[in-house]
Amino acid sequence: MTGKAKPKKHTAKELAAKLDAATTNRGGGKAGIADRTGSTKGGHAKYECPHCKITAPDVKSMQIHHDSKHPKIPFDDTKISNLHATAPVVAESSAPRPGVRGSLKK
Ligand SMILES: [Zn+2]
Repeated sequence: MTGKAKPKKHTAKELAAKLDAATTNRGGGKAGIADRTGSTKGGHAKYECPHCKITAPDVKSMQIHHDSKHPKIPFDDTKISNLHATAPVVAESSAPRPGVRGSLKK
């Protein structure tokens, strides 16, 4: 012990709130809502390839990717991870996520 380490006092609620703040896409007004619901194009990669974790904005793009990269595996859209439907469970990812708590500066 060097005295540098502080005892962890985080409650489960606190951690949950922190995780929520870090992973939930908020803000952006109407554009943000549209982005979150995925009703408009652009912005977030919605689908994740179950084989190589590459992301695509829609099923069609994912199928094109699949056909070129995984031709031996039958394409199954039920296996594609819909990142908008399932909340990301990346607890302490340092990688910035687009649209999540970004800078307000333009
Ligand atoms: Zn792939």
